[in-house]
Amino acid sequence: MSETHDTVILGSGCAGLTAALYTARAGLKPLVLEGHEPGGQLSITSMVENFPGWPDGIQGPELIENIKKQAARFGAEYSPAHLVSVELGAHPMRLHTPGGEISTRTLIIASGASARWLGLPSEQALIGHGVSSCATCDGFFFREKEIAVVGGGDSAMEEAIFLTRFANKVTVLHRRENFRASKIMLERAVAHPKIALRTNTVVEEVLGVEEKEVKGLRLRDVTTGQRDELAVSGMFLGIGHEPNAKIFAGQIDRDAEGYIKTTNHVFCTHDGKLVPGVFACGDVQDRRYRQAVTAAGSGCMAALETEKYLEDHGR
Ligand code: NAP
Repeated sequence: MSETHDTVILGSGCAGLTAALYTARAGLKPLVLEGHEPGGQLSITSMVENFPGWPDGIQGPELIENIKKQAARFGAEYSPAHLVSVELGAHPMRLHTPGGEISTRTLIIASGASARWLGLPSEQALIGHGVSSCATCDGFFFREKEIAVVGGGDSAMEEAIFLTRFANKVTVLHRRENFRASKIMLERAVAHPKIALRTNTVVEEVLGVEEKEVKGLRLRDVTTGQRDELAVSGMFLGIGHEPNAKIFAGQIDRDAEGYIKTTNHVFCTHDGKLVPGVFACGDVQDRRYRQAVTAAGSGCMAALETEKYLEDHGR
């Protein structure tokens, strides 16, 4: 371990990079730990049409690269490291990576949430080519098409209902007989003329890998074992997200599903008391909005609070 950093930012998605831009412009020379999924969820999205300032849209990876460069211009540094453990009670804090220990006065947690995937090789090969985990981002591309949504919870119902704005038909595929979704969401989906629900059904393969676009799904009925194919142009995953915050267990308050509980937008607590110098932003603490622009906004807030904290502590 050598120098003590003023601030370390965990995560390089929209929230982390915006925090990097602001702290870099404030002269804090942030160190960004890029983690397992550099660039976050935007780096696996195609066209982003709802980020203000891009009238013709911008590719997700390009947007991320732009913010990264913008922050680097003011002195942000990047490391491919990921954290294995943290000591937030130490002053300065100690962060452990496979490559060694990092010492820092403040920490901005922007480690995001990862969409759950089925894990099929064909699904992974077609992400961005008809397979998506974000209806708000990609639904627009399925105008007048037939698509499938996988999942049986509120996210799946919400995605299916949202996607009817574009698609001709949406088939919800759920692996069990009973849905996990709330009654009201399920009733809305059942009543919708463009939505069909199919239970006890699992996706075995996404068809179209050779053509590089989704052509259909090979399905299996788990009660009868029967297989068939569903012709669709897209498959949306609505099987939940996992916040990347497990390593903070016991040091930062999280809710029942593992999202960091923040107070006053970005302040982290432990047993309800503020954890000095630790802030969280973006999807790791946001289960509701989960948009690039809201992540960027909270990254800005975390950066401004970091500056203030350091100022108050004589930096
Ligand atoms: P969730 O409630 O955990 O539901 C996930 C669904 O995906 C479950 O039906 C689950 O099946 C299925 N699933 C999980 N892994 C799967 C796999 N590998 N293959 C196939 N299916 C799989 O997650 P969520 O829908 O994202 O909701 C999370 C929380 O946010 C909930 O509390 C929900 O109420 C809330 N939420 C609310 C709203 C709203 O009110 N507007 C919208 C979205 C989310 P099983 O049922 O078999 O486990």
